Amino acid sequence: MKIIFLGPPGVGKGTQASRLADALGIAHISTGDMLRAEVASGSELGNKVRTLMDEGQLVPDETIVEIIENRTLQSDCINGCILDGFPRTVPQAAALKEMLAAREDGISATYLFNLSEDQLLKRLEGRRGVQNRKDDSEDVQVERLKVYQEKTAPLIDYYREEGLLVEIDGNGTINVVYSRLLAAIEKMLPPEEVNAGEN
Ligand code: AMP
Repeated sequence: MKIIFLGPPGVGKGTQASRLADALGIAHISTGDMLRAEVASGSELGNKVRTLMDEGQLVPDETIVEIIENRTLQSDCINGCILDGFPRTVPQAAALKEMLAAREDGISATYLFNLSEDQLLKRLEGRRGVQNRKDDSEDVQVERLKVYQEKTAPLIDYYREEGLLVEIDGNGTINVVYSRLLAAIEKMLPPEEVNAGEN
């Protein structure tokens, strides 16, 4: 099972992805977390992507596709994974499709988290400084939203056309959004396979 989480920065995808991955016993792959770990370790890759990330720009498609190609082959992905923050451009989505097809695999569903712009800006404001992310300053947050609209939002139509898009209302508390997500997931999976995670 390969699930994609799509939505603007600040919508709460990461929190939901980590909880759902635990409930389903599948891997949570956050490309942002992976890249931040590279930057923190001072690796060659980390040094290459640091400035782009600090400025709220995307790292090159080839770089991130290669990371995903390797990561999805790791043993914790055997039952599947949630891709959180990937793909972020149409070429990334096309590369993912091709990669999975070569493995006789495919995407099960893409969950799009929707939030009104007002709420989004409020959440991003609340996040400022809390997670100690360099890209959470106000001007970089604005840039990241712009990049999302330009480069990532076209994936909404892309996955809708593929018949894979499921929209989730992202308004409300973490628990409320999670129960909406579970209800949507149960339409795809029999309920006994979802450990509703009373956590
Ligand atoms: P995130 O934590 O998902 O918001 O990602 C933080 C930053 O990592 C982004 O602003 C990009 O610079 C980079 N990044 C994460 N995922 C991708 C991706 N799929 N494609 C390009 N850049 C990415």
